[in-house]
Amino acid sequence: MTDLVAKIIAEQKESLIELRRDLHRHAEPAWVEYRTASIAARKLSDLGYELKLGREVIDENSRMGLPSAAVLEKEYERAKEQGADPDYLPHFRGGFTGLTATLDTGRPGPVIGLRFDIDANDLTEPAGRDHVPTQQGFASVNEGAMHACGHDAHAAIGIGVATVLANLKDRLSGKVKFIFQPAEEGVRGAKSMVAAGVTDDLDLLLGLHIGFGVDQLGVFACGNEQFLATTKYDVTFTGVPAHAGSTPDEGKNALLAAALAVTGLYGIARHKAGSSRINVGVLKSGSGRNIIPDLAEMKIEIRGETTEINNYMVGKALSVLEGAARMQEVEYSTEEVGGAPASVSTPELVSKLEKIGTAHPGVRQFLTESPFAGSEDFTYMMQAMDKRNKPSAYLIAGTPLKSGHHKRDFDFDEEVIPLAADVVASAVLDLAGNYK
Ligand SMILES: [Zn+2]
Repeated sequence: MTDLVAKIIAEQKESLIELRRDLHRHAEPAWVEYRTASIAARKLSDLGYELKLGREVIDENSRMGLPSAAVLEKEYERAKEQGADPDYLPHFRGGFTGLTATLDTGRPGPVIGLRFDIDANDLTEPAGRDHVPTQQGFASVNEGAMHACGHDAHAAIGIGVATVLANLKDRLSGKVKFIFQPAEEGVRGAKSMVAAGVTDDLDLLLGLHIGFGVDQLGVFACGNEQFLATTKYDVTFTGVPAHAGSTPDEGKNALLAAALAVTGLYGIARHKAGSSRINVGVLKSGSGRNIIPDLAEMKIEIRGETTEINNYMVGKALSVLEGAARMQEVEYSTEEVGGAPASVSTPELVSKLEKIGTAHPGVRQFLTESPFAGSEDFTYMMQAMDKRNKPSAYLIAGTPLKSGHHKRDFDFDEEVIPLAADVVASAVLDLAGNYK
């Protein structure tokens, strides 16, 4: 079986790398992955998968941090111009950029879910010649959008796995459901897919990321990851403008309220039960030197080792915001624009994957204590599985990185694409057969 998988992957390798480069060149951030989703839909449909698109798999009201209607429409038009698949594109309009693709073998067996995230980051790709995508001519042509977390690779890996399994359908039992998820960045997309019920029929679920804490090809990791629970807020302070020289007493200073809030937020006493984080990533305020600022906007995020610790930090943060607003007699509002609970891979499934991984010729080492802490909205799906007593796991495929995730000169070794596709496809074939 391993030979068969390896053969199909070898035949696919070039086209998978080509696909990754095409998606990288046309990077699309959260909720506007129109072109990306349409291309994935076309490929999966051609392979014989049964598709569910857009509103069928995205719950409209559970979407967090959605761009404005004008941005959604502008990027839709851009996708059209940049060669999105015209048959599938309309299904995703309005920020419904997810899909599922199911392979039904017709034989009894488990329903295995595989989740791949597809969005880019809000970054502009550097033009320097030492940046491989620029050098090789596939740097993002979309200003302010760059794949700096490897989700272009994830999409290509997903298509690679789908190709293998479609070709080996006769050797599978049960069903395999591919979940192509939008808006992982800012942890916004998974919640809406869970709310739409995409995980309801799954017996087992795998998620994947390249390069987190593992920097060598052929090294895979799973289990003991530390997914921090997180909540993201946009905060607005609204005061009253006034002339700073002649009538300062008539102003209500929104900038000052925000500044007080920043120090208050970083000063929150930490919970004894575990680690937490808080960050004010953006603070914008003021319109002129001699004007009392009447508007301040902040983007903040909170994280906790457990959902409980995160909730504790959220409660304290909201008190700080309220207090700062009161001190300056300004109004304030908060909008939750993203969030995910804490979760861990199911130990029994980790053990199975370790066994499968260790036996795979492409895997040099399989670590079950992956040195990685961050947040991932895959945890929404993991929690949904937990609730139904079904296993889930998050696999990390190692690759050397030029620099870390979310940095402008992020880049990875493309060999990880065929390799990870091979390992995941092999794991699915094994799990489908051995699943009880
Ligand atoms: Zn990522």
